Amino acid sequence: MALRAILGGTFDPVHIGHLHAARAVRRELGLDSVTLVLSARPPHRSASASAEDRWRMLELAAAEDAGIEISDLELRRRGLSYSIDTIEAFRARGETVVWILGSDGLDAFRAWHRYEAFAAACHLAVMARPPAAVTILPGFGEAGDAAALARQDTGLLFRARTPMLDVSATRVRASIARGDDASGLLAPVVWDYIRRRGLYRG
Ligand code: ATP
Repeated sequence: MALRAILGGTFDPVHIGHLHAARAVRRELGLDSVTLVLSARPPHRSASASAEDRWRMLELAAAEDAGIEISDLELRRRGLSYSIDTIEAFRARGETVVWILGSDGLDAFRAWHRYEAFAAACHLAVMARPPAAVTILPGFGEAGDAAALARQDTGLLFRARTPMLDVSATRVRASIARGDDASGLLAPVVWDYIRRRGLYRG
């Protein structure tokens, strides 16, 4: 089955950390592309920018990199954006899903909607975000190498070798609200969009 690596996020806004993560996993897994899925209506938080602005910023960032695809599945779906529904939708198309996560998100991940369904629905690719360690989650086995993800349908955890960049959307928003120059943390097209639309000014 074809492998589909997915980085889901609020992307409020999409920043260089997300793009770096997508490129790193793409290279480590030997894929043509990684798909960024916009969490249009995130269940456990609110977003600062509208779903339409966040989607537009994703479109702009992805237009510059043939190895980054974007999906508006959760934008088009009604109700809260539950990742498991998205994973099951891609699986229903006959794809093997690799869900990308930062190690800092592993604890929160266990509280996600229908957490117990994930090991039967996808693999995980976890990027280290020090100081949080990459740990194996109940229900998942460890992938010895990237090729293992193609041999088995679901239930493996792959430790990405590339660490995450020290950037977060929270930091980007705070920097813009203070009136600082956040251009180094964003794709230039996204930075232009934010300035044109006056987003995150506080
Ligand atoms: P916020 O600061 O608003 O919580 P965020 O920067 O963590 O946002 P999200 O859109 O919530 O971004 O994250 C989407 C996904 O991207 C998550 O799985 C998260 O772990 C991952 N991610 C966020 N920042 C980075 C980064 N610097 N490097 C790699 N992955 C990242």
